[in-house]
This record gives sequence, structure tokens and C-alpha cells, in this order.
Amino acid sequence: MGSTLNRETSLARFRDEEFDLAVIGAGINGAAAARDAAMRGLKVALIERGDFASATSSRSSKLIHGGFRYLPQGQFRLVYTALRERERLRRVTAPHLVRPIQFLFPVYRGRGFNRFTMSIGLTLYDLFARTPWAEWHSSLNSARVRETEPALSREGLRGGATYYDAWADDARITFENVLDADLHGAAVANYASVEGFVKTTEKSVEPLKGSTPPTVSISAALVRDLIGGGTCELRAKKFLNATGPWVDEIRRMDDPASRPSVRLTKGVHLVFARTMLPVRQALVLGDEDGRIVFVMPHDRYVLVGTTDTDFSGDPANVTADRADIEYLLGVMAESLPGIKLTIADVASSFAGLRALVTAGEGIEAPSKVPREEVILESRAGLITVAGGKLTTHREIAQKLVDRVMNELGKPATLCPTLATPLPGARPLDREATTGDAASIRSIGRDAAEILRARYGTRAPIVARFAAERPELAAPLARGCPAIGAEVVHAVRNEMAHSLHDFLIRRTSLTWRYPVEADSAAPAVAKIMAAELGWDSSREEQELASFKREQARRRVPA
Ligand SMILES: Cc1cc2nc3c(=O)[nH]c(=O)nc-3n(C[C@H](O)[C@H](O)[C@H](O)COP(=O)(O)OP(=O)(O)OC[C@H]3O[C@@H](n4cnc5c(N)ncnc54)[C@H](O)[C@@H]3O)c2cc1C
Repeated sequence: MGSTLNRETSLARFRDEEFDLAVIGAGINGAAAARDAAMRGLKVALIERGDFASATSSRSSKLIHGGFRYLPQGQFRLVYTALRERERLRRVTAPHLVRPIQFLFPVYRGRGFNRFTMSIGLTLYDLFARTPWAEWHSSLNSARVRETEPALSREGLRGGATYYDAWADDARITFENVLDADLHGAAVANYASVEGFVKTTEKSVEPLKGSTPPTVSISAALVRDLIGGGTCELRAKKFLNATGPWVDEIRRMDDPASRPSVRLTKGVHLVFARTMLPVRQALVLGDEDGRIVFVMPHDRYVLVGTTDTDFSGDPANVTADRADIEYLLGVMAESLPGIKLTIADVASSFAGLRALVTAGEGIEAPSKVPREEVILESRAGLITVAGGKLTTHREIAQKLVDRVMNELGKPATLCPTLATPLPGARPLDREATTGDAASIRSIGRDAAEILRARYGTRAPIVARFAAERPELAAPLARGCPAIGAEVVHAVRNEMAHSLHDFLIRRTSLTWRYPVEADSAAPAVAKIMAAELGWDSSREEQELASFKREQARRRVPA
């Protein structure tokens, strides 16, 4: 079974049908809620203003983790839940996307943990995760730390530990949730924006003087098609606001007097060529206040992050600035003194916004934990989810959909996402695999490896395009781990509309292989032009826009 994602069909359904649940925003929280609700038999619409995962959910540290640093704060429940979800994703629901990563965490005198507290913390961490013995953490003395990573500073080094966590392609996890929502009957569209609500007053209630005010509820959302133009009224019984940094914008559409519920903080990541930052393995570094910065090598590049500073600008224009870059370079200069990095060595960067919950009116379950999600509900019935973690998206969605089922008067059901793998981790329909197994064999081992790593069991669907047109089995550029068939697949089956959609979200090439992404862009544009009927000026515009974005990621504003 190929993907059924079809934007035109979804837009027509938005106009014509009434839904049980309309989810606004297809970052990880909205996508996971839409998937869960659709799997429980609800009629679901998922509306995304940009591309799927175009905001925070493609700009995280990519860690699927418990958050070791929350243990000293006593956040045991958060860490436990996140570790259980990590293990579920890694072993059951998304093993094709979630990979183990071993960190070396050095301990320095006067900075954060000491060897004893680290050992206790990691024991708890491994127990919570039920880590298999082969991956159990190891405590190291300073000689072993130096041996493991000779580039680390020796001044004040007291020892350290190695431990396992996991990481994943955040944008693809989000996309697979979107896809699964669609496969279970949801109507899904990207580049469709919610711009207001239509409210209905319960007619049965007479607004007498001094009596309870009439019940007003949201009956429809005004949705604008940002590609084809035009608006429609999308009718639904319940509305879920999962718009991340924009949750308050949507809440104000419902109630202009609503108070801010989130405080935004910026997190920046930098990418370096591994030749410039030749670390042997993933590291957890601390700044002088004990704040953690991750250094994660992958193939030819190294991802470094993150920062955490208040943000008050336009969430649509969040970028790394010079101060962010200097902070991260400073942490590395302190911890890896032999490695001399400058701003000019930044191969790419990206910045995202955490929506941290502020205590305020209307918060139903006040969170003592800054990174834990909070669920609010307005008088008119708008449910808002804010905060949370990529790692715990399934659990957050479960809570949200339990609530929606209850409010719709539907019987409580066992949550199907507990044990159902994402699409790329379950067997393809037999019908689809007839002939497809042969197609994946015909495209060569390297291309097949690339596809399996990105699409899991769905790789044969992509391989079919390359089997039909062998030129599509070639890499998009020298050294670039993506092939032409993926562009065709992204346009036809994954709702990609631009170079950005393909190079930033569907393949993550902009942070995984930023230099190769530049070289691949012309080939991607050519295939997209043929698929989408672009003329040469549109093709040039797309390329110019992508080049500007890449330059912005390299040079701080
Ligand atoms: C720097 C950083 C690092 C992080 N690292 C990790 C990590 O390593 N591990 C981890 O578990 N978690 C991590 N997180 C947390 C995690 O990334 C977030 O919790 C998660 O991505 C939030 O997803 P979301 O769906 O709420 O928001 P978003 O991904 O921001 O999605 C909101 C969506 O709503 C859409 N939208 C907005 N307005 C409208 C509208 N009017 N109509 C329709 N759609 C609209 C937007 O376009 C957007 O796509 C990190 C967060 C940050 C910022």
C-alpha cells in the first residue's frame, strides 16, 4: 500500500465533512494526536500552516532520551516516562528511525556532577529504562576518560562515565505520525492555515438577566489554503491547538482576552565538518554553570547544541545569532582546548523555540516541571497543548485523545499507539510487496541502504521509482546519501512542495550533510520541476530561496 496522502482530497473533505476532532498544527504533538485519534476511530482533520514539522519539531537536539539532567531536580516521573517511551520507540514502534547513541560524560571539579552523584544518577537511569546489561553505563577514572577522548581538557578532570541514550530524525518521526493518521482515515493538509473560529451559541439556554451566560462553543475553524488560495469553514466537534510557539496566537483567536500561557526560549544548534571537530564519540559537555551541551558526531559531521535563552521576536524568524554561536564555541574551547573552532567553521546552524509553560489563569494542571506539557481548555472548548518533549509525544497524544474521547462521550478504549509500530516499522501489505522486493534488489546495495535507513519497511515503495527509471537510483550529488527516486516519492506520496520540504524535512540533509545538500539542490529542483510542472523561472526561484536559507544558516545575522 502506497501513501494515500492527497492534499486536494483533504481540502475537499475540510469543506464538505464534519469532523470529530480538528488538530491545528502538525509538529510532533499535533501529528501524534491526529494519529492516535484516527486509530481510535475518530474522524480527524490535521491542518498545518507550513510544512509538517517545519517549526520546533525539526529543530530539536534529536535526542530520544530520559533527560539525565532532570534527575538532580527530582523530576523522576518525567525521566521515568521519557525512558519508557524511549525504549518503546527504539524497540517496538520506530526502530528504523531511533538509534542508540553512546555518550561520554566527563566530570570536572566544581562543575555540575561529581563521580559519585553521576554514578547514582546513571544507575537510576538504566534501571528506569531497563537497559540491557550490554548497554549498562560504565564509570571511568580520569585516565580512562582521557584514553576514550584524548581531545578533552585535562584540567580539573575527575573521571566520568559512558552511557547509552538514543537519537532520531525528529522531522521523519513527525512525518510518520502524519502519514499514519492519513493511513487511518484522517484528512491532512500542509500549507493550510487556521485564521479564526466560528462560534455557536447553544440555543436552548436563554440568557436571562443575572443567570448563567449562554454556552458558546467553537463550531468551525476558518482555514486558508496557502497554495491554491481560498478559505473554507472546517466544522468539527472538538478543536486541538497544537501550534507550539503559536499556541497563544490561536488562543487569542478564540478569546482575545486570554493571558499568555507560554514563555519562549531559543535553542540553537551548530553543525561542523568532522574534520574540523574530530571527536571520537558523542560527548556531554558542561559550561561553567554546569549547563549541558551535547556534541554528537554522525558520519562526516558533528551536531553541537544547545543554548537556552529567552526569545521575544517573531517565532517565524528564529535564527542563530552571533552570541549563540560564541557561547557554543566557548563551551567547546573550554572542554576541547586543542580544537580551534571559529564562526567561519560553522557548516550550518538551526534554531528552535521551546514553548515553556508559564503559571497563569486557566492552567488546569499547573506544571511544576518546566519541560512537561500542560493541557488547557478554554470556555469555548478549545483544547491547547503546550510544552512537552519529542520523546514523550506518544504519551502526550494518548492523554489528549483520552480527554477528547471522554468529552465526545465515546467509550474509553485501550490506546492503540502503545504497541502499534509506525508505518516504516510494520510489514507492507502483501499486495504492495509483489514486485517491490525485486525493485529494491535492482537498485544496488548503497541505494537500498539509504532507503531502508530513511523509510524502513516502506523502502520498496521508493525503490519502485528507481526500478522504473534507473537514473533515479543515483545519488543526487557526489557523496550525498539521497537518491532521485526520493524526490519523486516525496512529491507524489509525502506532500513535498518545495526544495525546503525535501532538503530540510523529508531527508534532513541540511543538518546531516549541509555541503552535500548545496550540491544536491539543482538535481532536486530539476526532478521537482518535472513532477510539479514548474517553469524555469519557478525552478530558479526555488533554488535562489534555498541558497538564501543555506547562507542564513551559515552566517549569523
Ligand atoms: C532547541 C530544542 C531542542 C530540543 N531537543 C529535544 C530533544 O533532544 N529531545 C526531546 O525529546 N525534545 C526536545 N525538544 C522539545 C521538542 O522539540 C518539542 O517539545 C516539540 O518539537 C514540540 O512540538 P509541537 O508539535 O508542540 O510544536 P511545533 O513543532 O513547533 O509545531 C507547531 C506547528 O503548528 C503550526 N502552526 C502554527 N500556527 C498555525 C496555524 N495558524 N494554522 C495551522 N498550523 C499552525 C506550525 O507551523 C508548526 O508546524 C527540544 C526543543 C528545542 C526548542
